[in-house]
Amino acid sequence: MDRIELATEESTELIDITGEVKRIVKSKTVDSGICVIFTRHTTTGIIINENEAGLKHDIAVLLNTLIPKGKGYQHDRIDDNAHAHLRSIMLGSSVTIPVENGTLALGTWQSIFFVECDGPRRREVCVSVVNG
Ligand code: ZN
Repeated sequence: MDRIELATEESTELIDITGEVKRIVKSKTVDSGICVIFTRHTTTGIIINENEAGLKHDIAVLLNTLIPKGKGYQHDRIDDNAHAHLRSIMLGSSVTIPVENGTLALGTWQSIFFVECDGPRRREVCVSVVNG
């Protein structure tokens, strides 16, 4: 397993980690298998989508709209970041991508994003490449 370390800068932020994940996959000898990308935090997510500035903004707006901050959540009584946990649940903590001919079988417009929901913080993403 490999790790990607990130230092996020915004409270809500999408970081494209496709390049780092591709480098990790390339460093392995797996020709055919799967790659699992997993975030180790309860206020972040991993998603696959298009890396386009307008869409990244739209995703941030969607998160704010669906799960606004400070809506009387019980967890805010102790930590003041319930919205970030709830957004993380909606986004999911991992994605699995097929590996084919030693590379990620991503579609043309697909990029892998780490989504920060409670930044800025130091974060860690685990990347496992499994033969099979
Ligand atoms: Zn919390």
